[in-house]
Amino acid sequence: MSLIDFAKTPVTEIFGTNCFSNAVMKERLPKNIYKEILAVQAGEKELTLAIAEVVAAVMRDWAIEKGASHYTHLFQPLTGLTAEKHDAFIAPTGDGKVLMEFSGKELIKGEPDASSFPSGGLRATFEARGYTAWDVTSPAFLKQDPTGTTLCIPTAFISYYGQALDKKVPLLKSIDALSREAIRVLRTLGNETSRRVFTTVGPEQEYFLVDKELYDKRPDLMLTGRTIFGVLPAKGQEMEDHYFGAIKERVAAFMRELNTELWKVGIPAKTQHNEVAPNQFELAPIYLNSSAAVDSNQLVMETLRNVARRHGMECLLHEKPFAGVNGSGKHNNWSMATDDGINLFDPGENPESNARFLLFAAAVVEAVDRYALLIRGSVATSGNDHRLGANEAPPAIVSIFFGGPLTEIFDNIAEGKTSGKSEAGGTIKIGVSSLPSLPKDVSDRNRTSPFAFTGNKFEFRMVGSSQSIATPNTFLNVAVAQVLSEFADKLEKTSNKNEAVQAIIKESYAKHKRVVFNGNGYTDEWVREAERRGLPNVKNAVDSLSILTRSETVSLFENHKVLTKEELESRYHIYLEKYSKQINIEAGVAIELARRTVFPAAIAYASKLATDASALAAIGAVSTAPEKRAKRIAEICSELYDDTSKLETVLSEAQETGDVLAQAKAYFEKVQPAMKTVRTKVDALEKIVAKEAWPFPGYEELLFKL
Ligand code: ADP
Ligand code: MG
Repeated sequence: MSLIDFAKTPVTEIFGTNCFSNAVMKERLPKNIYKEILAVQAGEKELTLAIAEVVAAVMRDWAIEKGASHYTHLFQPLTGLTAEKHDAFIAPTGDGKVLMEFSGKELIKGEPDASSFPSGGLRATFEARGYTAWDVTSPAFLKQDPTGTTLCIPTAFISYYGQALDKKVPLLKSIDALSREAIRVLRTLGNETSRRVFTTVGPEQEYFLVDKELYDKRPDLMLTGRTIFGVLPAKGQEMEDHYFGAIKERVAAFMRELNTELWKVGIPAKTQHNEVAPNQFELAPIYLNSSAAVDSNQLVMETLRNVARRHGMECLLHEKPFAGVNGSGKHNNWSMATDDGINLFDPGENPESNARFLLFAAAVVEAVDRYALLIRGSVATSGNDHRLGANEAPPAIVSIFFGGPLTEIFDNIAEGKTSGKSEAGGTIKIGVSSLPSLPKDVSDRNRTSPFAFTGNKFEFRMVGSSQSIATPNTFLNVAVAQVLSEFADKLEKTSNKNEAVQAIIKESYAKHKRVVFNGNGYTDEWVREAERRGLPNVKNAVDSLSILTRSETVSLFENHKVLTKEELESRYHIYLEKYSKQINIEAGVAIELARRTVFPAAIAYASKLATDASALAAIGAVSTAPEKRAKRIAEICSELYDDTSKLETVLSEAQETGDVLAQAKAYFEKVQPAMKTVRTKVDALEKIVAKEAWPFPGYEELLFKL
């Protein structure tokens, strides 16, 4: 491995070299065209073919200068992965030679066909064509592998009839909706200058690294992303010596290369550290607008995997690769900012900005309370079911953490107190024009809350580590857009804005403060308290997905033109199917491994013990120990045999269930418990079969070797 010498090639020079950023466009495009692009990015204009032609030519030259031979429209189908189809730039000249071409039409619209992606009934195959259109809010970039370079164009993916077949189209629409309503509110507050509101997102990505050689010996990890079997070694994470510990050299080398790769494509990877579980790590980038953040997080996940392999490791992004130690999440830091640089969740320094902050924060409280099920549903995956509520991640109850001082301010407003002593110091006068300036960091630390206010942003902590952040952000944006539109309706009707703002905050907070909880979210008391408060606690993905097709959800999404009833139904369908498929694979792997790997290995070991016992007896060294152990193993093996058959039976019943919902339920209610029983037996065997005789590497190696 060679030294990455940042003295020779400074980070400032590496950063963005492979990104067709605004800086590159500004430098290379004619001034008027660049201005047009800015207007398109701001949502003020549509991209015309004439402009696309100019941009395409410049983009092509830039990419070819850097060694690209192909281009691809990157899109996010509903599988949650990123999809790409590559085309070479070549165009024949008619005399047996080629030119490198790339037209405006090819830039703004591609036709990947892609009829094999799940559409949940939105396309019949005879009209299976899907179209991709360049998303100007997320920059194009170059992907490099050891032998070549490809120009990647982030795109939205729609059907022939304009229905969203991906996760990007609804996200962009949700940003529009939120912007529209937020601007309405801002206007009533006297803001005449901001033209657009953006959501900003910084996703903190957690992941595990395992040695590649060990990984290759674990079919469960290879096929399902998690260990289906395995027992915790004598040492787990209880010493808490991994969290923020010194980073091992091998991992540091990986991280250095990872950062360099990410910086090249313009992803501002910023923070990296060891996480709580052994061999668990985190990467946090500086936040971007949410469209670019979604794309770059997809690229971060892909780069993590690729770079890990170059270092003889495998990166695990599953929410719960190992039982008994922490799983991985993706804290979705979310905020709202105007195009002229105002963070709407910044408490600010004067009465006006405080009033604005309190109003927008109140809107989030109301949205999170009213749409808790939707927010919960946005993170409903089979992987996340292992993590939520398992005392390492927030429970499945959606609540907001505000911290003492801010909660007190809101409580006072809700109770109609005109003044009061705040914990933050100073006396509060509640009249909007005389609100106190809030201290900069009003939030103390609370790691157990699913939705925490952290200074000038909200940190949504329920998102799973492997999932695309598109849907959680889309749902969040729509929920907040709805509340803001109701606030705007009220504000637009009155002339006394100060009084109205105060009344709205008061009424809204009084009604929705039940969702604010500053205590320890991991405790059983909270579960009981939340129930008393009437907060939903939907513990599994199948039940929580049902919110997608409820009539109130449909009207919410149709109201804001983000998703239609049909599109919501298709998503419900696809997510349930994905849930079933995942567990189907896991159960298949469990059966296969239990029968064909664990069982033979355990029986072979038991008969070796029996042979040992007779050999010992032959020399007069009588010991019943090997015999006893052999018997115990044989007993467990016979239970394992039966339990595996039972799993097989419920699995084939689930496979034959026709209706998607009934099928997902069968996987959840029957297959999963049967899998757990099989695991108990396999894990019991692992504890008594000799290490050398065990057919695959255990947790000890997987979690501690690097
Ligand atoms: P913490 O240590 O509280 O988690 P950091 O400041 O380290 O906070 O930020 C964590 C993540 O939050 C980073 O990815 C960062 O980019 C993101 N973040 C910070 N400010 C914002 C914001 N205004 N909007 C969205 N994300 C943000
Ligand atoms: Mg954080």
